[in-house]
Amino acid sequence: MTAKIIDGAAIAEKIRSEIAADVKKRLDAGLIVPGLATVLVGENPASQAYVRSKRKACEEVGIYSIGLELPATTPQAEVEAQVRKLNEDPKIHGILVQLPLPSGFDEEKILSAIDLRKDVDGFHPINIGRLAQKGRDPLFTPATPTGVMYLLNQQFPSLEGLNAVVLGRSNIVGMPTALLLLRANATVTICHSKTKDLPGFCRQADILVAAIGRTEMVKKDWVKPGAVVIDVGINRVEDPSKPRGYRLVGDVAFNEVKEIAGAISPVPGGVGPMTIAMLLKNTLKAAILAGL
Ligand code: NDP
Repeated sequence: MTAKIIDGAAIAEKIRSEIAADVKKRLDAGLIVPGLATVLVGENPASQAYVRSKRKACEEVGIYSIGLELPATTPQAEVEAQVRKLNEDPKIHGILVQLPLPSGFDEEKILSAIDLRKDVDGFHPINIGRLAQKGRDPLFTPATPTGVMYLLNQQFPSLEGLNAVVLGRSNIVGMPTALLLLRANATVTICHSKTKDLPGFCRQADILVAAIGRTEMVKKDWVKPGAVVIDVGINRVEDPSKPRGYRLVGDVAFNEVKEIAGAISPVPGGVGPMTIAMLLKNTLKAAILAGL
């Protein structure tokens, strides 16, 4: 059996064009353009690249964006003050503080400074807290996990009762993905670096989400035949044949796992583009919620 390839790039493209059409409709109706502010602290090249692509994506769908770049030496209080200033800016509906922050910053305090209604990255402690609680709904959910769910919802009419195994428990990906799967009534197992017999847990999964940042760690014999595998990992592997000298690969050994999985998302072109599409969707939602 060869797996269906989940084309996240094409799915994200469709979402982006729907967002562009909605933004245009808003303009035609005399409503204001949704606005996103990105806050980048320090000079981590990967974070700089992520912020650049998020802002470029905004531009492409007609979302207004501004980018605040602060040196890593900026005092904590100043970062919080800048976030509060953006809370007051009527042209800005969404605020994204690019994570991780350089060491030494109190991330929770900075995320708490974001107006809940502008928390388009979904990492405000109240939004995350609501995600974890029954009967409470976050205003926004984090982009990457929401993108994972979007891809899964296209594969299954319902996730109810399915065994989902999430590899990784980070605040940014693993944990919120597990919480979203739980809310969708999947039976969720979270695995991490201390888990014993990782392959054994993975083999029970109808849905396997890999978010560990370990190059092609998930092998064919870890995967139950027919399982849906979502690969969140982005790892650089040296490749002199590429102009940049490296290529990107996932946490799943794609070429062998596609022989056994029912469906699999590739890297690149799987979850990555969905992350950006979900951020744009959240920004549009924030503008709608603001009634503007
Ligand atoms: P983190 O490093 O924050 O978390 C990694 C998680 O994987 C941890 O929970 C860790 O366990 C677990 N882990 C690490 N090594 C192993 C191992 N050998 N066996 C089992 N578990 C292990 O990473 P992130 O969650 O931020 O990112 C994960 C991956 O997803 C990365 O490759 C990242 O680049 C990518 N990513 C992709 C995005 C996209 O848009 N496609 C967006 C964000 C991230 P423990 O908690 O015990 O340390």
